[in-house]
Amino acid sequence: FQQTRGNDVIPRYVRVNTLKTTLEDVIDYLKREGFSYQGTAFVVFFLTIISPFHRPSAKTAFHNHFLYKAGHIILQDKASCLPAFLLNPQVGSHVIDACAAPGNKTSHLAAMIKNKGKLFAFDLDAKRLSTMSTLLLRAGVTCHQLANQDFLKVDPQSSEYKEVEYILLDPSCSGSGMVCLRDEVSELQDEGRLQALATFQLRCLNHTLQFPRVQRVVYSTCSIHSQENEEVVSACLQQNPAFRLVHLLPNWPERGHEPFTECLRASTAKTRTHGFFVAMLERRPPQTDEEN
Ligand code: SAM
Repeated sequence: FQQTRGNDVIPRYVRVNTLKTTLEDVIDYLKREGFSYQGTAFVVFFLTIISPFHRPSAKTAFHNHFLYKAGHIILQDKASCLPAFLLNPQVGSHVIDACAAPGNKTSHLAAMIKNKGKLFAFDLDAKRLSTMSTLLLRAGVTCHQLANQDFLKVDPQSSEYKEVEYILLDPSCSGSGMVCLRDEVSELQDEGRLQALATFQLRCLNHTLQFPRVQRVVYSTCSIHSQENEEVVSACLQQNPAFRLVHLLPNWPERGHEPFTECLRASTAKTRTHGFFVAMLERRPPQTDEEN
């Protein structure tokens, strides 16, 4: 659901944590608090995860709200809910969240697999991982295995990961899509820094495709720069012909830059969210003898 914030350019969104509650219960709770329910969100698929509420005069601090403290709602931008939703791992499957902290998308993945199966989450930053442990505990996540580890050093051939079919990669990026950071980061976007980030992102994306049973990989950033988005995807596809792009949400209003229109972009102007990019790669089906 969303709450419009004073003069802010984007609404405040929260994700309903289906590990702990249901959309209906959250709607009832907020109605009893005086929120008015304004129907479902404008894109049908968000029905199950996000619905808009609006209480014009209220400046509700959701950080202090019971539903947040109890882990029933997660404060997460709508665009940032796309990666786990689109990866759509099956209940009981094995999933990797490659650059996971502070764990919003990890907890979303756990909700999608209903805490069944296995969720391997890696991050280099110990402090962010400790924040993540608190978040996952509050969200009722139990299927995870956290590791303070460089994802690039995780061995894809290890028997631990032999059943991994889904990987979410949301690596460090320039953050140029974050409305609150825009002024701060704009001065730092020199070509050298963007190039270094893009090189790291491509290495990570290539690494995800080395896991022997991986079927689908979602790559996302909160950057508006094509160097970190379409150009990373383009280089990766050239280096990994066994994978192709999946055409995501045909009705989504903002697409990746030509020719990568299978991918999604998000922005304050078109989707009323932070700036965001999402691509999904899938393994091509094996060719039959006739096709060879
Ligand atoms: N997916 C997270 C979420 O939704 O809460 C946000 C991830 S943030 C954009 C990127 C994360 O990647 C940071 O926490 C950073 O510490 C981590 N990171 C950077 N380099 C890494 C590496 N080589 N291996 C694992 N994690 C890394």
